[in-house]
Amino acid sequence: MMKTQNKIRFTLLTILLISSLTNIFAQTKAVKLKISHLTGDFYIYTTYNAYEGSQLPANGMYLLTKNGVVLFDTPWDTTQFQPLLDSIKTKHNKNVILCIATHWHSDRTEGLEYYKQQGIKTYTTILTDELSKKNNKKRAEFLMSKDTVFNIAPYSFEIYYPGEGHTADNIIVWFSKEKILYGGCLIKGADADDLGFLGDANIEQYETTLKRVEKKCPDPEFIIVSHSDWKNINSLKHSIKLASKLKKKNAG
Ligand SMILES: [Zn+2]
Repeated sequence: MMKTQNKIRFTLLTILLISSLTNIFAQTKAVKLKISHLTGDFYIYTTYNAYEGSQLPANGMYLLTKNGVVLFDTPWDTTQFQPLLDSIKTKHNKNVILCIATHWHSDRTEGLEYYKQQGIKTYTTILTDELSKKNNKKRAEFLMSKDTVFNIAPYSFEIYYPGEGHTADNIIVWFSKEKILYGGCLIKGADADDLGFLGDANIEQYETTLKRVEKKCPDPEFIIVSHSDWKNINSLKHSIKLASKLKKKNAG
């Protein structure tokens, strides 16, 4: 039989071990899906995937409305489709009702079919759908044929296609009242060295396209970019500079 003191020690050790294990699991989970408050009813969610040998973050956004939650893009990490829905439900006691993907690459569209199966209304433009089909990517249920305004009480936002840039189909989302520009992969971080993956990009048009975004979305208070921190508002101006340099380099 164990002496009482030994018993207590054993119990304490067990508690310590369990709590440290719980911590480790909690940390692993936190690294896979991160949710940050942006402003008001707006939240940024981040998942991660391997890209050129390191873990690259991919940001999406969600908005709480009276009718439910609107998701902008889907997680890149395929293990996080349901955890994102669960986290939103736990945090806000609301279901996701709608999901809009901003271009055909996997870091935006990967969860579209899964979310459709969960009864969420999924949207892309017709152009995105054509490219998704061609490239064997997941596709949305509903298609937009032109720039579209969504009114989901109490919010209103516009889907805007500014032309080719990161891809042929990239769209942005503009909240004119809240001054939030959701730029997706078209806009790079204020500290970015380059415009990132250009395999499907239009180098000739990129600068012009970004300038259209600048004109469409005057004085944004927030600019959400896919793969960098969104806290620096210079991201759009910096991306225009990078695109201008790239165009000149390409021409020369
Ligand atoms: Zn991307």
